[in-house]
Amino acid sequence: MTQAIVLQNISKRYGTTKALDGLELAVEVGELFGLVGVNGAGKTTTLSIIMGFIHASSGSASVLGLDPWTDAPKLHSSIAWLPGDVRLPDAQSGLEWLTYQAGVAKLDHALIPALANEWEVPLNRPMRTLSKGNRQKVALLRLLIAKDAKLLVLDEPTSGLDPVAQERLLLALRERAAAGATVFFSSHSLTEVQTLCDRVAVIDRGQVLKLGTLNALTGDTHTLTVWTQKPVNTSSLEPWKPRLISNTHAILSGDRLLEDALPKLMAFGIERAEFGGMNLEHLLEQNHTREVTR
Ligand code: ATP
Repeated sequence: MTQAIVLQNISKRYGTTKALDGLELAVEVGELFGLVGVNGAGKTTTLSIIMGFIHASSGSASVLGLDPWTDAPKLHSSIAWLPGDVRLPDAQSGLEWLTYQAGVAKLDHALIPALANEWEVPLNRPMRTLSKGNRQKVALLRLLIAKDAKLLVLDEPTSGLDPVAQERLLLALRERAAAGATVFFSSHSLTEVQTLCDRVAVIDRGQVLKLGTLNALTGDTHTLTVWTQKPVNTSSLEPWKPRLISNTHAILSGDRLLEDALPKLMAFGIERAEFGGMNLEHLLEQNHTREVTR
């Protein structure tokens, strides 16, 4: 088996809402793969189909060589899962809950103290007294004690985490992938997946809009965001696909931004300018046509 996840022409309807609309993607074994999209793009629905929590309306899904819907119990022994909406029992301490979880799933509970120390999570207090970030960390420890999991599936894993914990998580996921596990996670942010993923699928309205390495997706395209004193006239800026947030706040993308676009913008009196990489919003805006690359 070389592919950990294969989704072919997957559609999912909730009543009249089409959450997924012919979604196609394949994830190689050992890959760190990011699923990126804005709110409502279909990320959680995709992850729920991979986990076998819901059944696709049509199309076919294979996860670790199994059908995630019919083989869910068998599959779950090989998958470590982090839900997007972490729900933990309020009255239990993290230690009680993790020890119970380790017992049910036959995991090594001896790993818990060292991980709690590393992640700086207070495990002896009732979980209702923990901050959102610390509850997220407890849920992450549940994922990390499944150390033999072949596939890690994480829905918005960095949600609520401070930058140090985010960095620690990215490191832990990298280590798992280096040891041969496949990591599949969802995110709102291209920047986040940029630092971690081998490949990324950008989804929009239930379809894969782009799939590839981040470099292949964004190339060396950069963005220039400017705030001006006078209203921006975009007629001389067309090569950089100007997007007006207000008449004195514009975002441009493309090549030679500093060399050629910035001097033209001077005419409007620049108050502030930021130069950076491509973000999700730009990628979505510039790719209305469906294009799948590998
Ligand atoms: P977010 O980033 O906000 O979590 P998402 O990319 O995970 O969004 P999904 O939760 O998969 O998106 O939702 C995709 C679409 O399906 C949305 O239009 C959403 O409103 C709809 N949807 C999701 N779950 C249900 C449900 N149980 N019943 C009805 N509609 C649903």
